Amino acid sequence: MVDTIPSYLSGQWRTGDGDARTVYDAVTGAAVTQIASSEAHLAGALAHARSTGGSALRAMTFSERAAALKAAAGALAERKDELYALSAQAGCTRADAKVDVDGGFGTAMVYAGLGRKGLPDGTVIVEDPAPTPFGKQGVFLGQHILTSRLGVAVQINAFNFPVWGMLEKLAPAILAGVPTLAKAATPTAYIAEHAVRIIIESGTLPEGALQFVAGPIGGLFDQLDGQDSVGFTGSAATAASLRSHPRIVGRSVHFTAEADSVNASILGPDATPGTEEFDLFVQQVVTEMTVKAGQKCTAIRRALVPAGRLDAVQDALTAALGDIVIGAPGAEGVTMGALVGTDQRDDVRGRITELSKDAQIVFGDPNTVDVVGADAQAGAFLSPILLRGDATSGSAHDVEAFGPVATLLPYDGTAADATAQAARGQGSLAASVVSNDGDFARDTVLGIAAHHGRVLVLDRDSASESTGHGIPMPQLVHGGPGRAGGGEEEGGLRAVYHHMQRTAVQGGPALLNSLGH
Ligand code: NAP
Repeated sequence: MVDTIPSYLSGQWRTGDGDARTVYDAVTGAAVTQIASSEAHLAGALAHARSTGGSALRAMTFSERAAALKAAAGALAERKDELYALSAQAGCTRADAKVDVDGGFGTAMVYAGLGRKGLPDGTVIVEDPAPTPFGKQGVFLGQHILTSRLGVAVQINAFNFPVWGMLEKLAPAILAGVPTLAKAATPTAYIAEHAVRIIIESGTLPEGALQFVAGPIGGLFDQLDGQDSVGFTGSAATAASLRSHPRIVGRSVHFTAEADSVNASILGPDATPGTEEFDLFVQQVVTEMTVKAGQKCTAIRRALVPAGRLDAVQDALTAALGDIVIGAPGAEGVTMGALVGTDQRDDVRGRITELSKDAQIVFGDPNTVDVVGADAQAGAFLSPILLRGDATSGSAHDVEAFGPVATLLPYDGTAADATAQAARGQGSLAASVVSNDGDFARDTVLGIAAHHGRVLVLDRDSASESTGHGIPMPQLVHGGPGRAGGGEEEGGLRAVYHHMQRTAVQGGPALLNSLGH
C-alpha cells in the first residue's frame, strides 16, 4: 500500500480522508502514491489564509516580500535533486525536469528581482507619475493607487509543470501581499507537494502565505468572494466550467485561465533547404515535439510551411525524429521520456485518431514504440507522431494532442496567408516565425499578434541567444486570447498588479502626497 499525499492546510500537513485515487509511475506503471480529498479542511484553510497569511504578507514591504520570495526560491534550488528524482517517476528526463524545476525557482527569482527593483519601499503603489488636477487652483486632484486585495489567490495547476506552474502563480501573489492556496493536478501532485514541503521547511514565507491542496476541492468555490481570485491552468473544457461557476459569476471573483492551445510555427518563404533558418525550424519543431514528451502548453502543434516545401520539411523532420531515443529517464542515450501516465497516453492516441481524419501520419506509429530501459507496455511511452495535412485539413487547427504530436500544414508563402492559417487556431499562447526576411517577419508578427500572447522570431542572428518557441519568460506575457483562455500570467509586474485593487483617490494635494508613505 502506498502513502497518501498530504495537503498543507492551516499550518498542518493533513492526509485527506475522502475516496483515494492511485497515481502510477509513468515509466514502470507501479503505484507511486494516493490522492484523497481534504475538502473538510478547506474552509478553515481559506480563513487561515485571509487572517494569518494575508495579514503577515501585508505587514511586509514589497522589498521584504521580494527577499522572502528569493529565499524560498533559493531553498528549492538547494534541494532541486530531490525534485528531479521525483520528476523521473512522472516520465521526465533530467532535461525535462530542469525545465520544470529550474524554470520554477528561476521564475521566482526573476520575480524577486523585479519586485526589489521595480516596486516602492512600502506597501502601496502610487500609479500615476503625478496627480491629475481637476480645477485651476490645484486644491482637488486625483491619482490611482494599488493596494493588496484582502482575499486568497486560489491557484489551480495543470499536471505538466508541477513546480514551474505553481511558482509562476505564487511569485506575483506573494509580491502583491496576497496568500496562495495552490491546488496541484492529481497526476503530479507528489512533485508539487515536495516543492511545497521544501518551501515550508525553509521557513522563508510567513505562515499562511502558502497552503497546498492535493485532490479535489469540492465546494471551495462556494466560499469565495470578491476579494479572492482563481488562477487556473488546464484544459479549455475545465476552464469553461469553472469560469461559469455561479459563485465566480455572482461575486465577481477574479478569474484567469491559461488553457490549451494549438500553437503554430511558420517557416518563412526565404527559408529554403540549406539556409540556417530551414535548419533552425526543423530543430525547433523536433525540440517542441519531444521536450517533456510534448506535454507543454506552448509546444508547436502546427508547422506551417510554404506549400512547395512540404516534402523537404517532411524529409528533414522525419530524419531528425528518427534520432530520438525513447525510454526510461536516465537510461543510456534516452532523449525523450514517457507521458505522465497511460491515461494521458490513451487520450493522446484518441486525439491522433481525430487528427488522422483529415491528415496523414508520416512519422511514427501511435500503437508501437521501441523503448530503452523500460517496458513499452507498462510505461506511458509514445512515439513522436508527425502528421501531414493540406489546405482542407481542419482538425489540426482545432484538436490539441497533448503529447509528442505535430502536424505539417501548407500556406501559400505570403504573410497574409500565414496570418490567416495561424488565426484558425482561434487564439494561441505562442507562435514563432522562422525567417531571415525582415519584411515577411514584420508583416507576419503584426498580422498574428492579435491572436497570440507571445510571438517569437527566429533567425540566424538571434539564434545563439534565443530562449526558444516553447519557453515563457517571466518578464513577458504568458497567456493568450480566445481558446488559450484569455488570461495573462507572468508579464513582469503587471502580474503583481493583477492581485491588487486599483483605486482612484480624489482629494487635496497633502492627502495624495501622503498615500505612498
Ligand atoms: P485539466 O484536466 O483541465 O486539469 C487542470 C487542473 O484543474 C487540475 O489541477 C485538475 O485537478 C483541476 N480540476 C479539474 N476539474 C476541476 C474541478 N471541477 N474543480 C476544480 N479543479 C478542477 O488539465 P490537465 O490535464 O491537468 O492539463 C492539461 C491541459 O492543460 C492541456 O490541455 C494543456 O494545454 C493545458 N495547459 C495549459 C497551460 C497554459 O499555460 N496555458 C499550461 C499547462 C497546461 P485534478 O488533476 O485533481 O483533476
